[in-house]
Amino acid sequence: MIVILKQEARQEQIEKLTAFFNKMGLKIHLSQGKHSTIMGLVGDTTRIDEDMIATLDDVEAVRRIQEPYKKANRKFHPADSVIDCGGVKLGGGMFQIIAGPCSVESEEQIIAVAKAVKEAGATLLRGGAFKPRTSPYAFQGLHGEGIRLLLEAKKATGLPIVTEIMDANHLPLFEDVDVIQVGARNMQNFELLKELGKCNKPILLKRGLANTLQELLMSAEYIMAGGNENVILCERGIRTFETATRNTLDLSCVPVLHQLTHLPVIIDPSHATGVSRLVKPMSLAAAACGADGLIIEVHNDPKHALCDGAQSLTPEEFADVAARVQAVRACIS
Ligand code: PEP
Ligand code: MN
Repeated sequence: MIVILKQEARQEQIEKLTAFFNKMGLKIHLSQGKHSTIMGLVGDTTRIDEDMIATLDDVEAVRRIQEPYKKANRKFHPADSVIDCGGVKLGGGMFQIIAGPCSVESEEQIIAVAKAVKEAGATLLRGGAFKPRTSPYAFQGLHGEGIRLLLEAKKATGLPIVTEIMDANHLPLFEDVDVIQVGARNMQNFELLKELGKCNKPILLKRGLANTLQELLMSAEYIMAGGNENVILCERGIRTFETATRNTLDLSCVPVLHQLTHLPVIIDPSHATGVSRLVKPMSLAAAACGADGLIIEVHNDPKHALCDGAQSLTPEEFADVAARVQAVRACIS
C-alpha cells in the first residue's frame, strides 16, 4: 500500500504516521521528493482500512498495490485448487457438470431427473430445498423434506448433491449434503459465510447480482479465513441495463478470476440468461473460455416446473448440451 502525503506535510506528522504504521506491524519505505512524500507500507496490509487512512491529516491519497484477499489469492497459492465434492474432483483441469431442477418438487421428479442427468453425463446433482424467491407467495421449497429427497436421489444414482443454504441455523440439516451452495442473494451475508468457514464441506459461492469480482473474492476470503478453503466460485449473470436476458453473463470473469485466484470457477448459464434456448450456446462458450464446470437447470417437465421452468432444459436437451460441451473441451485441450 502506498500513502501519498500532502505537499505541506510536516516532519512531525510523518514521524507520527510512521509510528502508527509500525504499531500495526508494518515497515515503512519513505521517499521524500521536492514536491511530494510517499510512504510505502510493507507487510500484511489486509487489515488496514484505506478509507480511514485517507482521512488522516496530511494524507493526500492511498493506493492499494496488493489485493485485500490473501487466502484466495493466486500469488500465495500458485497451483489451481482442486475441490473434492463428495468424491468428484472439480478444478485444476477436472471439469464437472452439475445438473438438476431449480427446486426439488417430489420424489418422482427428483429421482427421474437425477437418473436422466446422470445418464447424460452430469457428475453432480443440484436441487433447491430452500428457495430464495422474490415473492413471498411463490413456492419456497420443501425445506428438510427436499434435502431428504435429494439424499434418496443420491442413493438411487450415486451422484453427490448440491443444494442452497439460506440460514446458518439450518446447517444441521445439511450434514449429508456434499456441496453447500450460497446463492447470489446471500453472497454478502457475512454471518452465514463465517459459519460456513467453520465447516469443512465444499461451498459453491455464487456471485451477487451487482457485485464486483473483488467483492466475490472477499466473500470467498470470509469462508477461507474461517478455515474452510473448499470454495468454488460461480458466475450466474449480473444486473445490467439489458432486458433481453434475465441477467448478463460476464464470461470474461473466467480468465480474470483464473489470474487472480486459484479457486475453480464454474458458470451457471441458466440463471444468467433465464431462457432455455440460450443455455446451450452459453455452456459451449463457458467451456471454450476455460471454465472449470457448469451448473445447469434441468426439469423433466419444464412447462409445469414450480420454479424457473423457462430456463430449464429437458433431459434430452441437456444430453445434447453435455455432449457438445465435451466436444468443445476436446477441441481446446
Ligand atoms: C439457484 O441456483 O436456484 C438460485 C436461486 O441461484 P441464484 O442464487 O444464482 O439466483
Ligand atoms: Mn433456479
